[in-house]
Amino acid sequence: MSQVRVRFAPSPTGFFHIGSARTALFNWLYARHTGGKFVLRIEDTDKERNSDEYLEVIYSSLRWLGMDWDEGPEIGGDFGPYRQSERDGIYQDYIEKLKAADRLYEKEGAWWFRISGEPQIIEDQIRGRVERTEEKDFVVVRSNGSPVFHLVNVVDDITMGITHVIRGEDHLSNTSKHTELLKALGAPLPTFAHIPLILRQDGPGKMSKRDQGALVEEYQKRGYLPESVVNFLCLLGWNPKDDQEKMPIAEIISRFDFPGVNQSNARFDERKMAHLNMSYLLELPSNDFLAKARDFFAATPKHAAIMSSVSEDYFAAVMEISQPKIKAVEELPAYISYFCSDEFPWNPKALKKTFKKGEPLARLAELKDLLAGQDSLNDETAVEDAMKAMAESNGNGFGDYQAIARLSVTGTNAGPGITQIFRVLGKDSVVERMERFLASPPEIPA
Ligand code: GLU
Repeated sequence: MSQVRVRFAPSPTGFFHIGSARTALFNWLYARHTGGKFVLRIEDTDKERNSDEYLEVIYSSLRWLGMDWDEGPEIGGDFGPYRQSERDGIYQDYIEKLKAADRLYEKEGAWWFRISGEPQIIEDQIRGRVERTEEKDFVVVRSNGSPVFHLVNVVDDITMGITHVIRGEDHLSNTSKHTELLKALGAPLPTFAHIPLILRQDGPGKMSKRDQGALVEEYQKRGYLPESVVNFLCLLGWNPKDDQEKMPIAEIISRFDFPGVNQSNARFDERKMAHLNMSYLLELPSNDFLAKARDFFAATPKHAAIMSSVSEDYFAAVMEISQPKIKAVEELPAYISYFCSDEFPWNPKALKKTFKKGEPLARLAELKDLLAGQDSLNDETAVEDAMKAMAESNGNGFGDYQAIARLSVTGTNAGPGITQIFRVLGKDSVVERMERFLASPPEIPA
């Protein structure tokens, strides 16, 4: 079989959303799986609605996600140019071919394509056999001389040697027009594969660009890892037979094929994405995590100020204990606020819960004295052992001390391990915060 050539053909008329990214990805995966070529073609004939800004976002998002193209804008190739706005001469040739074959006629200034009216049979790799019959001639060149989408799309697929058309199911209804045109031009039909739609997280209907979580760029800005976003996108409509979810890209490439693509629509699930991101974050070497966190903080002045309010070593230590706890880097500024300032808010729920039973202030006073008596809090095991021994000799449990300790030094009831927090904050700061809490405890909400 000849080499597979697939294309991703976006129109730069809006920000790059996950539906487009997923279409790009399935094409890219198929090319990489088969050792074929992944072509990027820009369908920018609609001058009014295209913008260079959108185009740049397409390029940068594809690169961020690791989808390198083998031919296309910025890198060229043997079948260029790769922007439709630069291919008018080619379209004119094909319009002439259709005229010569007596398949075009002029009506009211536009050129119409004379359909065959024969049933068009598409052996879709995902949908199975689809049959449709075009019933009406359609315009292929508008009265202003510009060729329509159906024509340029088909001409490009022919002239770029595209073997497989992998695109969203919303294009299935166009395919019979395309096969009519392909046949009229004497071109072989490519293999079609129409991928299922992505449904919005809540409620019915297709996910739109306006839905929360729809833009690829957002994930980049929020400090998501591209490998987790790619992994998530793969699972929107494809799954390997063993239902495994987290997979490195090399494994996805080797396993990806059309039989694994579902016919039913895929539902977008932001929690699943966050969960996947968390498990990728966990695996990241701590230096890489630190570098990502630094980039994220540096990108926003407010966050950059938090980072520069502490030493580099201290920031690194805070990152090390936060890494296993967060779902995305974007959570870090709020998550670590108490490490970087003595002014942190009291979480009302945590306050209420901690003061619900027992005598938390008495326990805190005992713990504060214990910690104040240590040389340092650097040895987490020693601190934990000392706390346990004290709890036992006072007839209490370790848990009686933990929640109030955490509350008094962090303002909340979740976070890294308590002895990790002690170690990183250091003895002076921990004891001082506990003293302050004891001297003037915050008001407990009713
Ligand atoms: N420009 C079309 C789109 O954005 C591409 C259609 C196709 O892949 O054939 O949907």
